[in-house]
Amino acid sequence: MPLRDPFAAYNAGNNIEAHLVCHLLVESGIEAMVIEDVSQVGVWWGGTVSEIHKPQVWIERDDIERARPVLTEYDRRSAERRAAEQQDGSEAAPICATCEKCGKSANFPATLKGTVQLCPHCRAYVDVGEDHDIEGWEETPADGAGD
Ligand SMILES: [Zn+2]
Repeated sequence: MPLRDPFAAYNAGNNIEAHLVCHLLVESGIEAMVIEDVSQVGVWWGGTVSEIHKPQVWIERDDIERARPVLTEYDRRSAERRAAEQQDGSEAAPICATCEKCGKSANFPATLKGTVQLCPHCRAYVDVGEDHDIEGWEETPADGAGD
């Protein structure tokens, strides 16, 4: 459903963010839609915004004033989240890792993120920081049906 008087309210970093912002706007009662990439722009808007390479959230021009606080709030929160993530990398916020052997969790200093430590409960190996690509870590369930 095309908007009557479209206005590009938000330039998102990726499609997921665009849909998140769109969802927030719709929840606030503002009609919004996401344009994910260039290929769809030509279809919807006749090529009027053909230079866009990032997903955008479009709203009615009449809704700009109502949308502004929603977008401002989103920007503020995402900035806070980024700042918090950066601090976690350097400051000593402990990382909670769960031992896959005994099922108990333990806190490790942030400086150990990405390393393998011993579980303080059962002395099994625990990967701190939950990196998904630790080599040699078999994740096959112990009680699987088996071949
Ligand atoms: Zn353990």
